[in-house]
Amino acid sequence: MKILLVYPEFPDTFWSFKHALKFIFKKAGSPPLGLLTVAAILPDEWEKKLIDMNINRLNDVDLRWADFVFVSGIAIQKESAKKVIGRCKAAGVKIVAGGPLFTTGYQEFMEIDHFILNEAEITLPIFLKDLKNGCARHMYTTDRWADIKKTPLPRWELINMKRYASINIQYSRGCPFHCEFCDIALLCGRVPRTKDKMQVLRELESLYALGWRESVFFVDDNFIANKKKLKNEILPAIAEWMERKKHPFSFITQASIELADDEELMKLMAKAGFVTVFIGIETPHEMSLAECSKVQNMNRDLLACVKKIQKFGLQVQGGFIVGFDNDPPTIFDSQIKFIQKSGIVIAMVGLLNALPKTRLYQRLEKENRLLKDSTGDNTDFSINFIPKMNYDLLISGYKKILNTVYSPKYYYERVKTFLREYVYPQKRMFQLSFNNLCAFLKSILFLGIIGQERVHYWRLVFWTVFRRPRLFPLALTFAIYGFHFRKIFEKYTQFVQLTDIRQKKA
Ligand code: SF4
Repeated sequence: MKILLVYPEFPDTFWSFKHALKFIFKKAGSPPLGLLTVAAILPDEWEKKLIDMNINRLNDVDLRWADFVFVSGIAIQKESAKKVIGRCKAAGVKIVAGGPLFTTGYQEFMEIDHFILNEAEITLPIFLKDLKNGCARHMYTTDRWADIKKTPLPRWELINMKRYASINIQYSRGCPFHCEFCDIALLCGRVPRTKDKMQVLRELESLYALGWRESVFFVDDNFIANKKKLKNEILPAIAEWMERKKHPFSFITQASIELADDEELMKLMAKAGFVTVFIGIETPHEMSLAECSKVQNMNRDLLACVKKIQKFGLQVQGGFIVGFDNDPPTIFDSQIKFIQKSGIVIAMVGLLNALPKTRLYQRLEKENRLLKDSTGDNTDFSINFIPKMNYDLLISGYKKILNTVYSPKYYYERVKTFLREYVYPQKRMFQLSFNNLCAFLKSILFLGIIGQERVHYWRLVFWTVFRRPRLFPLALTFAIYGFHFRKIFEKYTQFVQLTDIRQKKA
């Protein structure tokens, strides 16, 4: 059997980092971990090829080669996935689809031959057995959660690691919280499931053996969902392994805000090599937090929590949302103030959207406020329901946040706020590579000479060299990220302006 695994293309979005990746000759942020794991569950004797369309083109000759095309993705990849499915149909090759896009929205893709929904560790082996017996069904689902201790090592050899900025692995699945807008409870459950120590070390060891020496992203929904196991078993083991291997990786992950309450956990994370953590801050407005059941963020000084986490050597990236029913008209200024004061350089501010099957979706459906499907793009100015706040007020307020926090002046100010207080914990020294040198030279050209941020860029360069020289590579990375975010928001605001003009003319 010949299996072609296809990962559809991501559009140019906030998280694609496409404009930044060009500086370091990388093509995509991270590889398709789901498909690489699926490849490991398929029989060894089957031939497998993986095409990540963010890296390579999908050619008709590949489709003709395959007996089955396996497609996986998330909502933002929908348009590309539809094109892939159309091409498979035209080529007469059978399609097998799974992953979040199809698990929550299979109804839109009924032309697909086989759906392997929910957790592939459970549904895929049943499909494979049926296929062997000649009785494969259209759809495989389960309401059980897989034991991820049995999840095999991803088949890294199917990708060219060098094309990615970061490699992703997973230690846990599931989150105990139940935020109204989030689909993690639906997709991964509320009881966190974790891998064991040896499994995590094996995964790290395999990346090390393949020559990987850069960033590793633990793509867990909430890395700290089982704190006891992390502190007693996982983090000490990773720290010891990292020490032994002379700190080959830097780790990124996602966690909930109560990380700030546990100093031992933060110390252990920093010691193990974690440098960045994404946290859903959502909003500084208490009533909006209550509305979306973000209980863990309530009744606490969110700003102080962020500062505390940063002091322990972890850079905080933050998710922010506007468009809650309880948002007051002052929310836009409050969000700007919070983001600037926090020194959260990478602040993803999105309009609230209702994802299929979430509690928010169900509530809005009952209230007759749903308009369309969410695009899955967090920052494209789309909202798929009727907001309580006047729509024009909401959109102009949202635009104001983005135009402010990603304007060169505010962005570079925030970078300095962060670097001023940040304690850089990692033992691994910055390694000067050809890519890094090129990134520096390109930044001089695109940001320091022809970029509209040139004054801010040079101020940051000199400020860092004299005040925080060890943080110079980080300052440069932020400057390059800033370029990406500016490009993204320029594209969106132009699009919104054009839509406004067209609507006024009509
Ligand atoms: S804490 Fe994060 S992952 Fe967990 S339910 Fe809330 S938004 Fe989802």
